[in-house]
Amino acid sequence: ESILETIDRLCAVVPNYPTPGVTFRDLTPVFADGPALRGMVDALLADFEGTFDYVAGVEARGFLLAAAAAYASGHGVITVRKPGKLPRPTYNEAYSMEYGTNSLEVHIGDIPHGSRVLVLDDVLATGGTLGATARLIERAGSSVAGIGVVLELDGLGGRENLAGYKVRSLRTY
Ligand code: IMP
Repeated sequence: ESILETIDRLCAVVPNYPTPGVTFRDLTPVFADGPALRGMVDALLADFEGTFDYVAGVEARGFLLAAAAAYASGHGVITVRKPGKLPRPTYNEAYSMEYGTNSLEVHIGDIPHGSRVLVLDDVLATGGTLGATARLIERAGSSVAGIGVVLELDGLGGRENLAGYKVRSLRTY
């Protein structure tokens, strides 16, 4: 079974969550499966081998992928967090969502200037989250080596919002 088939088998599809009309793809059963977790992380790393110095994870599910990928590749993790969670001075990047805006933060100084950062998250939808993450890395004086996600939800403009970056998804719905 390929990792793509494993994702299809284990990913739970939740209709009308978090709001009516939305179909939520729940990857927690994929994370809970040992061979599937390893398969996802290995597949995400395969396309970026030798091109990055750090792995950034987006709170919260991105942390799981980033920590595993960093450990497997011998690099460190950068934590990209929701506002108000980091104790020291941060860069903050806002992005718009369906209703209102949100933002993400990273500690100033956590990413050494000139680093190449691989960004991982579970799902790419509109690209707001990963776009803000990419801007945070660039504000820190570093570059985005690539963006890796397990699932890409087609038709929401995610790829267009991330134009110019190397984006790799394991599965598109
Ligand atoms: P975006 O900013 O619109 O690209 O949304 C991506 C963010 O929302 C990611 O951090 C995902 O974890 C979360 N997300 C959006 N849709 C889904 C979904 O169907 N399943 C799981 N997470 C989702």
